[in-house]
Amino acid sequence: ARNRFSLETELRRAIESEQLTLAFQPLIELKNGRIAGFEALARWNDSERGFVSPVDFIPIAEDSGLIVPLGNWAIQEAARTLADWDAKMGGREAPVYIGVNISAIQLMRSDVPQVVSDALSEAKVSGDRLILELTESAILGDPDHASAVLGRLKALNARIAMDDFGTAYSNLAYLQKLPVDVLKIDRSLVTDMLQDHGKISIVRAIQSLAETLDLKTAAEGIEGPELARMLAVLGCDYGQGYHYAPPLSAADAYAFLTASLNAATT
Ligand code: C2E
Ligand code: MG
Ligand code: MG
Repeated sequence: ARNRFSLETELRRAIESEQLTLAFQPLIELKNGRIAGFEALARWNDSERGFVSPVDFIPIAEDSGLIVPLGNWAIQEAARTLADWDAKMGGREAPVYIGVNISAIQLMRSDVPQVVSDALSEAKVSGDRLILELTESAILGDPDHASAVLGRLKALNARIAMDDFGTAYSNLAYLQKLPVDVLKIDRSLVTDMLQDHGKISIVRAIQSLAETLDLKTAAEGIEGPELARMLAVLGCDYGQGYHYAPPLSAADAYAFLTASLNAATT
Protein backbone atom coordinates (compact mmCIF):
# COMPACT_ATOMS: atom_id res chain seq x y z
CA ALA A 1 0.00 0.00 0.00
CA ARG A 2 2.84 2.35 0.82
CA ASN A 3 4.48 1.74 -2.52
CA ARG A 4 1.18 2.42 -4.23
CA PHE A 5 0.76 5.66 -2.32
CA SER A 6 4.24 6.88 -3.17
CA LEU A 7 3.74 5.89 -6.81
CA GLU A 8 0.58 8.00 -6.82
CA THR A 9 2.40 10.98 -5.31
CA GLU A 10 5.21 10.67 -7.82
CA LEU A 11 2.81 10.22 -10.71
CA ARG A 12 0.97 13.38 -9.68
CA ARG A 13 4.26 15.25 -9.65
CA ALA A 14 5.28 13.78 -13.01
CA ILE A 15 2.01 14.90 -14.61
CA GLU A 16 2.24 18.39 -13.10
CA SER A 17 5.83 18.89 -14.18
CA GLU A 18 5.11 17.43 -17.64
CA GLN A 19 7.53 14.55 -17.30
CA LEU A 20 5.33 12.08 -19.11
CA THR A 21 5.84 11.54 -22.80
CA LEU A 22 3.93 9.81 -25.55
CA ALA A 23 5.41 6.98 -27.57
CA PHE A 24 3.96 6.29 -31.01
CA GLN A 25 3.54 2.81 -32.46
CA PRO A 26 2.82 2.51 -36.20
CA LEU A 27 -0.30 0.86 -37.62
CA ILE A 28 0.24 -0.61 -41.07
CA GLU A 29 -2.31 -1.24 -43.78
CA LEU A 30 -1.96 -5.01 -44.18
CA LYS A 31 -2.96 -5.27 -47.83
CA ASN A 32 -0.25 -2.91 -49.11
CA GLY A 33 2.21 -2.33 -46.25
CA ARG A 34 1.55 1.39 -46.12
CA ILE A 35 1.54 3.38 -42.93
CA ALA A 36 -1.95 4.30 -41.73
CA GLY A 37 -1.35 5.90 -38.37
CA PHE A 38 0.12 5.56 -34.92
CA GLU A 39 -1.16 4.66 -31.47
CA ALA A 40 -0.07 7.09 -28.76
CA LEU A 41 1.07 5.30 -25.60
CA ALA A 42 1.90 7.11 -22.36
CA ARG A 43 5.45 6.71 -21.07
CA TRP A 44 6.78 7.55 -17.64
CA ASN A 45 10.50 7.51 -17.09
CA ASP A 46 11.04 8.39 -13.45
CA SER A 47 14.47 9.71 -12.41
CA GLU A 48 14.64 7.25 -9.50
CA ARG A 49 12.39 4.35 -10.45
CA GLY A 50 13.37 4.27 -14.09
CA PHE A 51 10.79 3.18 -16.65
CA VAL A 52 7.37 2.56 -15.10
CA SER A 53 5.00 0.58 -17.32
CA PRO A 54 1.53 1.95 -18.12
CA VAL A 55 0.23 -1.43 -17.02
CA ASP A 56 1.32 -0.30 -13.51
CA PHE A 57 0.59 3.43 -13.53
CA ILE A 58 -2.66 3.60 -15.54
CA PRO A 59 -4.63 1.66 -12.86
CA ILE A 60 -3.21 3.99 -10.19
CA ALA A 61 -4.15 6.99 -12.32
CA GLU A 62 -7.67 5.58 -12.66
CA ASP A 63 -8.11 4.92 -8.93
CA SER A 64 -6.79 8.33 -7.92
CA GLY A 65 -8.55 10.41 -10.57
CA LEU A 66 -5.20 11.38 -12.10
CA ILE A 67 -6.36 9.72 -15.30
CA VAL A 68 -8.33 12.89 -16.09
CA PRO A 69 -5.34 15.26 -16.34
CA LEU A 70 -3.19 12.44 -17.80
CA GLY A 71 -5.76 11.47 -20.41
CA ASN A 72 -6.55 15.06 -21.36
CA TRP A 73 -2.85 15.78 -21.72
CA ALA A 74 -2.50 12.73 -24.02
CA ILE A 75 -5.25 14.10 -26.31
CA GLN A 76 -3.58 17.53 -26.45
CA GLU A 77 -0.12 16.08 -26.98
CA ALA A 78 -1.38 13.84 -29.82
CA ALA A 79 -2.95 16.85 -31.57
CA ARG A 80 0.22 18.91 -31.07
CA THR A 81 2.33 16.08 -32.49
CA LEU A 82 0.18 15.93 -35.64
CA ALA A 83 0.57 19.70 -36.03
CA ASP A 84 4.32 19.39 -35.53
CA TRP A 85 4.59 16.65 -38.19
CA ASP A 86 2.52 18.77 -40.62
CA ALA A 87 4.89 21.69 -40.05
CA LYS A 88 7.91 19.43 -40.62
CA MET A 89 6.34 18.30 -43.90
CA GLY A 90 6.30 21.91 -45.02
CA GLY A 91 2.65 22.48 -44.18
CA ARG A 92 1.43 19.42 -46.10
CA GLU A 93 -0.83 17.28 -43.96
CA ALA A 94 1.05 14.20 -42.76
CA PRO A 95 -1.22 11.39 -44.09
CA VAL A 96 -1.65 9.61 -40.77
CA TYR A 97 -3.97 9.52 -37.81
CA ILE A 98 -3.07 9.17 -34.15
CA GLY A 99 -5.03 6.88 -31.85
CA VAL A 100 -5.40 7.98 -28.23
CA ASN A 101 -6.48 5.68 -25.40
CA ILE A 102 -9.43 6.90 -23.35
CA SER A 103 -10.08 5.29 -19.99
CA ALA A 104 -13.59 4.45 -18.77
CA ILE A 105 -13.04 6.70 -15.75
CA GLN A 106 -11.91 9.58 -17.96
CA LEU A 107 -14.99 9.13 -20.14
CA MET A 108 -17.20 9.39 -17.05
CA ARG A 109 -15.46 12.17 -15.18
CA SER A 110 -14.27 14.51 -17.87
CA ASP A 111 -15.87 16.20 -20.86
CA VAL A 112 -13.83 14.30 -23.45
CA PRO A 113 -15.52 15.81 -26.56
CA GLN A 114 -14.81 19.33 -25.26
CA VAL A 115 -11.18 18.42 -24.56
CA VAL A 116 -10.85 16.95 -28.05
CA SER A 117 -12.50 19.95 -29.65
CA ASP A 118 -10.22 22.41 -27.79
CA ALA A 119 -7.11 20.35 -28.58
CA LEU A 120 -8.01 20.24 -32.29
CA SER A 121 -8.62 23.96 -32.58
CA GLU A 122 -5.53 24.84 -30.58
CA ALA A 123 -3.31 22.62 -32.76
CA LYS A 124 -5.28 23.48 -35.93
CA VAL A 125 -5.69 19.87 -37.01
CA SER A 126 -8.87 18.24 -38.26
CA GLY A 127 -10.88 15.77 -36.22
CA ASP A 128 -10.60 12.94 -38.72
CA ARG A 129 -6.95 12.57 -37.72
CA LEU A 130 -7.80 11.36 -34.25
CA ILE A 131 -9.04 7.91 -33.32
CA LEU A 132 -10.21 7.48 -29.76
CA GLU A 133 -9.59 3.99 -28.40
CA LEU A 134 -12.20 2.94 -25.86
CA THR A 135 -12.76 -0.39 -24.17
CA GLU A 136 -16.06 -2.17 -23.97
CA SER A 137 -16.21 -1.58 -20.23
CA ALA A 138 -16.10 2.18 -20.88
CA ILE A 139 -19.20 1.88 -23.00
CA LEU A 140 -21.14 -0.75 -21.12
CA GLY A 141 -20.78 0.99 -17.74
CA ASP A 142 -23.20 3.72 -18.78
CA PRO A 143 -24.39 3.09 -22.36
CA ASP A 144 -26.59 6.19 -22.56
CA HIS A 145 -23.81 8.52 -21.49
CA ALA A 146 -21.34 6.72 -23.78
CA SER A 147 -23.73 6.99 -26.69
CA ALA A 148 -24.09 10.76 -26.18
CA VAL A 149 -20.33 11.21 -25.87
CA LEU A 150 -19.60 9.12 -28.96
CA GLY A 151 -22.16 11.13 -30.91
CA ARG A 152 -20.40 14.37 -29.98
CA LEU A 153 -17.00 12.90 -30.90
CA LYS A 154 -18.35 11.82 -34.29
CA ALA A 155 -19.67 15.36 -34.80
CA LEU A 156 -16.02 16.46 -34.55
CA ASN A 157 -15.19 13.86 -37.27
CA ALA A 158 -13.09 11.84 -34.84
CA ARG A 159 -13.21 8.06 -35.20
CA ILE A 160 -13.85 5.48 -32.50
CA ALA A 161 -12.01 2.20 -31.99
CA MET A 162 -12.97 -0.58 -29.60
CA ASP A 163 -9.73 -1.54 -27.88
CA ASP A 164 -8.96 -5.01 -26.49
CA PHE A 165 -11.80 -6.44 -28.56
CA GLY A 166 -12.50 -10.12 -27.97
CA THR A 167 -11.39 -10.20 -24.34
CA ALA A 168 -14.34 -8.93 -22.35
CA TYR A 169 -18.09 -9.34 -22.65
CA SER A 170 -18.21 -8.72 -26.38
CA ASN A 171 -21.77 -7.55 -26.10
CA LEU A 172 -22.53 -7.39 -29.77
CA ALA A 173 -25.78 -5.45 -29.53
CA TYR A 174 -24.08 -2.14 -28.71
CA LEU A 175 -21.74 -2.42 -31.69
CA GLN A 176 -24.62 -1.98 -34.04
CA LYS A 177 -26.11 0.90 -32.08
CA LEU A 178 -23.00 2.97 -31.44
CA PRO A 179 -20.88 4.82 -34.00
CA VAL A 180 -17.82 2.56 -33.76
CA ASP A 181 -15.37 2.57 -36.71
CA VAL A 182 -12.63 0.08 -35.84
CA LEU A 183 -12.34 -3.13 -33.81
CA LYS A 184 -8.88 -3.58 -32.35
CA ILE A 185 -8.41 -7.33 -31.96
CA ASP A 186 -6.67 -7.91 -28.66
CA ARG A 187 -3.13 -9.17 -28.84
CA SER A 188 -3.96 -12.12 -26.56
CA LEU A 189 -5.87 -13.51 -29.56
CA VAL A 190 -3.28 -12.51 -32.15
CA THR A 191 0.28 -13.09 -30.96
CA ASP A 192 0.20 -16.90 -30.73
CA MET A 193 -2.62 -17.39 -33.22
CA LEU A 194 -0.56 -19.55 -35.60
CA GLN A 195 -0.07 -22.13 -32.84
CA ASP A 196 -3.71 -22.08 -31.76
CA HIS A 197 -6.49 -22.95 -34.19
CA GLY A 198 -9.14 -21.86 -31.73
CA LYS A 199 -7.77 -18.34 -31.86
CA ILE A 200 -7.71 -18.34 -35.65
CA SER A 201 -11.41 -19.22 -35.57
CA ILE A 202 -12.16 -16.38 -33.17
CA VAL A 203 -10.23 -13.84 -35.24
CA ARG A 204 -12.01 -15.08 -38.35
CA ALA A 205 -15.36 -14.62 -36.59
CA ILE A 206 -14.45 -11.09 -35.45
CA GLN A 207 -13.40 -10.26 -39.00
CA SER A 208 -16.68 -11.49 -40.43
CA LEU A 209 -18.64 -9.60 -37.78
CA ALA A 210 -16.71 -6.44 -38.66
CA GLU A 211 -17.44 -6.89 -42.35
CA THR A 212 -21.14 -7.42 -41.68
CA LEU A 213 -21.29 -4.22 -39.61
CA ASP A 214 -19.03 -2.32 -42.03
CA LEU A 215 -16.24 -1.78 -39.50
CA LYS A 216 -12.48 -1.87 -39.97
CA THR A 217 -10.29 -4.23 -37.97
CA ALA A 218 -6.83 -3.72 -36.52
CA ALA A 219 -4.78 -6.59 -35.10
CA GLU A 220 -2.43 -5.86 -32.20
CA GLY A 221 0.64 -7.83 -31.19
CA ILE A 222 1.93 -8.88 -34.62
CA GLU A 223 5.40 -10.17 -33.84
CA GLY A 224 6.38 -11.90 -37.08
CA PRO A 225 5.91 -11.91 -40.86
CA GLU A 226 3.86 -15.15 -41.10
CA LEU A 227 1.34 -13.69 -38.71
CA ALA A 228 1.12 -10.50 -40.74
CA ARG A 229 0.48 -12.53 -43.91
CA MET A 230 -2.14 -14.69 -42.20
CA LEU A 231 -4.04 -11.65 -40.92
CA ALA A 232 -3.94 -10.07 -44.37
CA VAL A 233 -5.40 -13.27 -45.82
CA LEU A 234 -8.15 -13.20 -43.20
CA GLY A 235 -9.01 -9.68 -44.42
CA CYS A 236 -7.80 -7.75 -41.42
CA ASP A 237 -7.29 -4.08 -42.35
CA TYR A 238 -4.53 -2.81 -40.07
CA GLY A 239 -1.69 -4.35 -38.10
CA GLN A 240 0.39 -3.20 -35.16
CA GLY A 241 3.23 -4.92 -33.38
CA TYR A 242 6.95 -5.47 -32.90
CA HIS A 243 7.17 -7.00 -36.39
CA TYR A 244 6.72 -3.46 -37.74
CA ALA A 245 8.03 -1.33 -34.90
CA PRO A 246 7.83 -0.98 -31.13
CA PRO A 247 6.37 2.23 -29.67
CA LEU A 248 8.75 5.00 -30.82
CA SER A 249 9.68 8.47 -29.60
CA ALA A 250 7.97 11.30 -31.51
CA ALA A 251 11.18 11.98 -33.44
CA ASP A 252 11.68 8.31 -34.35
CA ALA A 253 8.01 7.99 -35.29
CA TYR A 254 8.37 10.94 -37.65
CA ALA A 255 11.45 9.31 -39.21
CA PHE A 256 9.48 6.06 -39.58
CA LEU A 257 6.67 8.01 -41.23
CA THR A 258 8.87 9.75 -43.79
CA ALA A 259 10.74 6.51 -44.55
CA SER A 260 7.41 4.72 -45.14
CA LEU A 261 6.13 7.51 -47.38
CA ASN A 262 9.36 7.47 -49.41
CA ALA A 263 9.24 3.68 -49.76
CA ALA A 264 5.64 3.92 -51.00
CA THR A 265 6.49 6.40 -53.77
CA THR A 266 9.63 4.66 -55.06
P1 C2E B 1 -3.28 -0.99 -25.46
O1 C2E B 1 -4.03 0.27 -25.74
O2 C2E B 1 -3.95 -2.27 -25.84
O3 C2E B 1 -1.87 -0.83 -26.17
C1 C2E B 1 -1.17 -1.85 -26.80
C2 C2E B 1 -0.06 -2.40 -25.93
O4 C2E B 1 0.55 -3.49 -26.62
C3 C2E B 1 1.06 -1.40 -25.65
O5 C2E B 1 1.53 -1.66 -24.34
C4 C2E B 1 2.11 -1.82 -26.67
O6 C2E B 1 3.43 -1.42 -26.33
C5 C2E B 1 1.95 -3.30 -26.65
N1 C2E B 1 2.45 -3.96 -27.86
C6 C2E B 1 2.52 -3.44 -29.09
N2 C2E B 1 2.98 -4.31 -29.99
C7 C2E B 1 3.22 -5.47 -29.32
C8 C2E B 1 3.71 -6.76 -29.72
O7 C2E B 1 4.01 -7.03 -30.88
N3 C2E B 1 3.81 -7.70 -28.73
C9 C2E B 1 3.48 -7.44 -27.44
N4 C2E B 1 3.62 -8.41 -26.56
N5 C2E B 1 3.02 -6.23 -27.05
C10 C2E B 1 2.88 -5.25 -27.97
P2 C2E B 1 1.86 -0.50 -23.30
O8 C2E B 1 2.47 0.66 -24.01
O9 C2E B 1 2.61 -1.13 -22.18
O10 C2E B 1 0.45 -0.04 -22.80
C11 C2E B 1 -0.37 -0.91 -22.08
C12 C2E B 1 -1.76 -0.38 -21.92
O11 C2E B 1 -1.77 0.81 -21.11
C13 C2E B 1 -2.42 0.04 -23.23
O12 C2E B 1 -2.93 -1.10 -23.89
C14 C2E B 1 -3.50 0.97 -22.73
O13 C2E B 1 -4.62 0.25 -22.29
C15 C2E B 1 -2.85 1.61 -21.52
N6 C2E B 1 -2.38 2.96 -21.86
C16 C2E B 1 -1.19 3.37 -22.39
N7 C2E B 1 -1.17 4.70 -22.56
C17 C2E B 1 -2.38 5.17 -22.15
C18 C2E B 1 -3.00 6.48 -22.09
O14 C2E B 1 -2.43 7.51 -22.50
N8 C2E B 1 -4.27 6.54 -21.57
C19 C2E B 1 -4.93 5.42 -21.15
N9 C2E B 1 -6.19 5.55 -20.67
N10 C2E B 1 -4.40 4.19 -21.21
C20 C2E B 1 -3.14 4.07 -21.71
MG1 MG C 1 -5.01 1.08 -27.26
MG1 MG D 1 -5.36 -2.89 -27.07
